[in-house]
Amino acid sequence: MELRAFFTQLLSRHDCLVEEVGDAGLRVLFPRDIQESLRVGELEVFNMPRGDGQSLSLVHGGRDFIEVLEPLAFSAGLFSAVAFPRLTFPVKDPDGFLASHLTIQNGVFRLKEARPGRCSYLMVHFRMVATADTRSERLVAVTVNERTRTIPVGMATQLPYLFEQGGSKERDGVGAPGSSADFTVSESLETASDPRLTLPAIREQAQIAAREIFHDFINNLNRRLERDLTRLQQYYLTLAGEIEKRFQKKGRDPEERERATSRMEATKADYLKKIRDARDKYALEIVMEPVSALCVELPVTMMEVVLQRRKESRLVSIPVNPITRSLESLVCGKCRKSVLNFHLCDSLHILCPACFPDCPACKKKP
Ligand SMILES: [Zn+2]
Ligand SMILES: [Zn+2]
Repeated sequence: MELRAFFTQLLSRHDCLVEEVGDAGLRVLFPRDIQESLRVGELEVFNMPRGDGQSLSLVHGGRDFIEVLEPLAFSAGLFSAVAFPRLTFPVKDPDGFLASHLTIQNGVFRLKEARPGRCSYLMVHFRMVATADTRSERLVAVTVNERTRTIPVGMATQLPYLFEQGGSKERDGVGAPGSSADFTVSESLETASDPRLTLPAIREQAQIAAREIFHDFINNLNRRLERDLTRLQQYYLTLAGEIEKRFQKKGRDPEERERATSRMEATKADYLKKIRDARDKYALEIVMEPVSALCVELPVTMMEVVLQRRKESRLVSIPVNPITRSLESLVCGKCRKSVLNFHLCDSLHILCPACFPDCPACKKKP
């Protein structure tokens, strides 16, 4: 999510009045209690350009304002929850829907049953910071279905629109029952499972997201390291060549021979040290810090699907998510990326095209 949108949502939720000032600014009127807790004035203008920029740091009044906001993100409780009990996305032709979303490269599938169900999701926003000789910061949301462990790809991006719809309907007083945007905010949901059980899966997905987000950053880092190493190598090869030449000319003199040997050793040691320095300079550290967690409860269409390969078969539950209006993704048994186009190993574990046929689950068995 864009920092500007996140900032607006978070502050609005805490009764701040957020207004746009041109394309690059936000004017915020803070209620008294927040003025005190965040140590800000009643009216502050933040410089925040629109768009998903490279850097997401927000320095305001000499302070990193994202850090300042952290207590707000947590103050609603680490696991604040929201439910959309009447959000519907009827799947008229479940077989056709499934066929248009799911592909098994080396097997078949069959819909056993499509029935209404409910699922709860854990959505965590991470602030991710990659640091080497330069720095990049991003805000990323990761969502996992707590019941099926499927991934509702794109749900975090769509969710704010639902809140917006709900908000305006409430104000206009036309929030008719059954309208898609009805939602209730509650601290605990009956059907919600323990979010802590979902955290390992959340962390896995966050790591995958970090690799994708910082892909260019990491590539750029590796390119520069490669370039520095090549230069070092060329420089020291030339040096070594000169020492060697001199040795060829005057190598018969024992004193000269000793001098050349020690110079060569010193040059080699220097070269190894410079390589270590270059590697240190470009050493990458990625820090992922959760800034908010939301539990979302949704009515879904649960597809009970039989996966089949040769004579083996296996049943999986794959929900149709009413927010993304799409089938939720399964997870590759090796790289943990979300997939809807995959291979099956002989024991019917799901593997993405890049990981197949290397199944870690089958390898573990004696
Ligand atoms: Zn994979
Ligand atoms: Zn397997």
